[in-house]
Amino acid sequence: MMNDEIYYNKERIREELNQDLSQDDSHRSGILFARRARLARGVGLAAMFFPIAGVLVTHFHTGGWWLLLVGWAFIWPHLAWQLACRSAVPHRSEILNLKIDAVITGVWTGLMGVTTLPAAALIVMIGMNLMGSGGFRLFIAGIMIMLLSTLATLQLTGTLVLRLPGPLEWGLTLPVLMLYPMLFAWVSHRTALRLAEHKRRLELMSTRDGMTGVFNRRHWEILLRNEYDQCRRSQCAGTLLIIDIDHFKTINDTWGHDVGDEAIVAITRQLQLTLRSCDVIGRFGGDEFAVIMSRTSAESAIAAMSRVHERLKNMPLPGAPAQRLRISVGVAPWGPQFGHYREWLKAADVALYKAKNAGRGRTEVAA
Ligand code: GH3
Ligand code: MG
Repeated sequence: MMNDEIYYNKERIREELNQDLSQDDSHRSGILFARRARLARGVGLAAMFFPIAGVLVTHFHTGGWWLLLVGWAFIWPHLAWQLACRSAVPHRSEILNLKIDAVITGVWTGLMGVTTLPAAALIVMIGMNLMGSGGFRLFIAGIMIMLLSTLATLQLTGTLVLRLPGPLEWGLTLPVLMLYPMLFAWVSHRTALRLAEHKRRLELMSTRDGMTGVFNRRHWEILLRNEYDQCRRSQCAGTLLIIDIDHFKTINDTWGHDVGDEAIVAITRQLQLTLRSCDVIGRFGGDEFAVIMSRTSAESAIAAMSRVHERLKNMPLPGAPAQRLRISVGVAPWGPQFGHYREWLKAADVALYKAKNAGRGRTEVAA
């Protein structure tokens, strides 16, 4: 009883932990988002330093503009990163950083002249960042901010430059125009790869039992339904087994839940070692397992399970070497009398109770 309380407390702690983990997850993905933006911003703004510096030199802009340019190109990307990763909500903070990018882009566009090549490169760069990070909505918001900031700068500085770019402008801006989209595509490619890996891991988590790594009940039942349909269609053999550890509560109460967990994992490994790799093993929860044996008769399934019974007799648990594990098994071969896969499952369950009632440590077949 005491051990059961510990077990259920453990479950509660695990649930609370899961909640914390989901908050951690959103924080972590916000940090990853800010890190991607940091790379694009860091490289992009440093590259834009030269074309804008070229314009400042040609038009004799002095003092404060140079300070703004150096601070924006070389300090702002690091400051933006620090702001995002220190924020409680890094994603939101990074969106704000992108809007600040739009404001400063507007300032440069206003100062350099709307039609200059560096201004065009800058607008393309920041536009790509906005669209890539926040989709169409952030892009439109960013463009509006850029426009307002450009108009305000034009108003304040009184410059409206309408001219064709010279060779220096071309030379300094062209590499940025050509290389930045490639950098952006590379960052997007890496993100796509990471997302695919994340998806694969999520799929694994949603189909597997966390403790043993075999299929969880939900996914195992989907596989059982497929097997049932297959047996019905092709009228081929298929056998279903339900396995339950005998007196598992006593093991928990005597040795503690950690040894109980060890027993669950040990039984799983024994099933994996003894059965064929094509046999589909699932954990039903607690101390109950189930196996689908495709194209297998009840006799072959019973023979496989007697090997498991034999091996368990000689298998000590590291945490409790004196303890031996015993299992009861219910076997149900597929038959046309089952109108639904759940009826097939029920037959195996009834056979398991027959094994329990007949003294445990044995395999019984459904009538
Ligand atoms: P029987 O021979 O009739 O099967 O008796 P039993 O004691 O094995 O009874 P039962 O199968 O109902 O016991 C299952 C127990 O397994 C109840 C629960 O406390 C315990 N349990 C369920 N999940 C876990 C787990 O993940 N780890 C551990 N250690 N114990 C678990
Ligand atoms: Mg049991």
